[in-house]
Amino acid sequence: MSISQLVELCRGRAVLALTGAGCSTESGIPDYRGPGRRGPAPTPVQFQAFKRDPETRRRYWARSVAGWQRFQGARPNGAHLALAELEQRAQLAGLITQNVDRLHHAAGSRQVIELHGALERVRCLDCAALEARRALQLRLLALNPGWPELPATALPDGDAELESRDALEFEVAACLECGGVLKPDVVFFGENVPRTTVDAAYEMIERADALLVVGSSLSVFSGYRFVRRAAERGKPIGIVNLGPTRGDPLATLRVDGSAGEVLGALEQALGSA
Ligand code: NAD
Ligand code: ZN
Repeated sequence: MSISQLVELCRGRAVLALTGAGCSTESGIPDYRGPGRRGPAPTPVQFQAFKRDPETRRRYWARSVAGWQRFQGARPNGAHLALAELEQRAQLAGLITQNVDRLHHAAGSRQVIELHGALERVRCLDCAALEARRALQLRLLALNPGWPELPATALPDGDAELESRDALEFEVAACLECGGVLKPDVVFFGENVPRTTVDAAYEMIERADALLVVGSSLSVFSGYRFVRRAAERGKPIGIVNLGPTRGDPLATLRVDGSAGEVLGALEQALGSA
């Protein structure tokens, strides 16, 4: 499907964007299910295991400390910038993202619902106190000197793959307020998106004239449900993604292309209209 049809779908409509990991791959953050991936998608940490099992937490934080450098160094790409520009010009009514990387904010988007939270904050499971991930990184490095030098392959959620024996030596930091268990302030697998967040996202759908999906396989129900809702309401749905998505049967049109390129072209075309 051509970009000009996507331009026609968006022109004159209050468009709501729904973004996923594919929106950030051009910033160097890998996705879970892209066509370039060999083998099965990596298994993300499960909430119940994280809560229950100190070893799971030790492994998570050991990997996360190594992966953080790269994750926090990521910068918005053309797709993030185009979406921010469209919002500026009132051609985008808002944005729902499944990403936890804060790159939409970094690009200047303001009306953003982060369905899965953000990795830049950490929350105590016992007393709910918040700490900046940046500050926790310094505490973790002080407890584990020399740790980030370990060879690590970046994983999607800011994790990194380490030899499991390395993680056994890692010391985990506790909550500064109560000594409790710290968890990144993101929705893990096995956890639900808070009801208020889901309701706010449904409200955005009601107000929008069209939905534009960017870089999501929609295999996670958490994002897919909004595509279903838009379809139920008879709103046109455009999907920009490399490869197929679970939402394809509901789409008005699909553009198989890179998010940075397609959104850049869309932004230009709508700007010169
Ligand atoms: P996904 O990995 O399931 O799907 C990403 C899709 O984007 C794939 O179909 C892939 O082919 C496509 N894609 C990759 N690069 C692209 C590009 N440059 N242009 C267009 N399409 C591209 O991701 P999802 O649907 O967002 O679900 C993954 C879950 O994991 C989410 O719940 C999310 O919270 C989490 N996650 C977040 C990040 C992040 O914050 N950047 C990264 C990975 C995973
Ligand atoms: Zn606490």
